[in-house]
Amino acid sequence: MKCPYTVLIAEDENNIASFMATILTANGYQVIRAKDGAETMMMVTSHCPDLMILDLGLPDMDGGQIIQSVRGWSQIPILVVSARTHERDKVEALDLGADDYITKPFGTAELLARVRTALRRMHTNSGAQDALQTGRFTCGGLTVDFDRRRVFVDGNDVHLTQNEYKIVALLAAYAGRVLTYDLLIHSIWGPNAGEDNQILRVNMANIRRKIEKNPAEPHYIFTEMGVGYRMAEGE
Ligand code: CA
Repeated sequence: MKCPYTVLIAEDENNIASFMATILTANGYQVIRAKDGAETMMMVTSHCPDLMILDLGLPDMDGGQIIQSVRGWSQIPILVVSARTHERDKVEALDLGADDYITKPFGTAELLARVRTALRRMHTNSGAQDALQTGRFTCGGLTVDFDRRRVFVDGNDVHLTQNEYKIVALLAAYAGRVLTYDLLIHSIWGPNAGEDNQILRVNMANIRRKIEKNPAEPHYIFTEMGVGYRMAEGE
């Protein structure tokens, strides 16, 4: 295995921290741990980890506060851990500069995928550049051709409208990462677009009708309830 990445796990619940540490260590990562905000800040500074997994509910400091102060001087990828019911916390964390989040309870495959995606972002500068350089994004039967601005499923052009294409292209450029409703709406319809998600939902329903075999059980674009959408990781 190549040079190991160091992952800082900032989590006060010992069960969860140990679970994550075991999985990551078994997959070749070096793990360091912090159990409160003060320790987290100290370890980010002294150990310069490659990635931070941050529980938003640490006992001494607000998770948002930690993200904000780390972002003041570091571009380290931050993966937030949060309970399923706290959608607003997740959106806030993403707005403050977290890269992604993972919802408790989560499984091994999901944790490893989120970690991989966040680390890849760090090494390609941005997923967008990566995808745009190769000119296309592929995931199973789905192909997004950025040069021709077209989307194919199993080789067939699915004829998206301009806005539908823009949504799919943006999600593909950041495949594996969640993009919030606000970010998508403002990227597609401009900074003055309202906060209403309805127009995005309508577009997404049409996109799914065109690209998914069963729109109710999507394979390519997943809904992150109350937060946004995520494209499956490409090849
Ligand atoms: Ca906690």
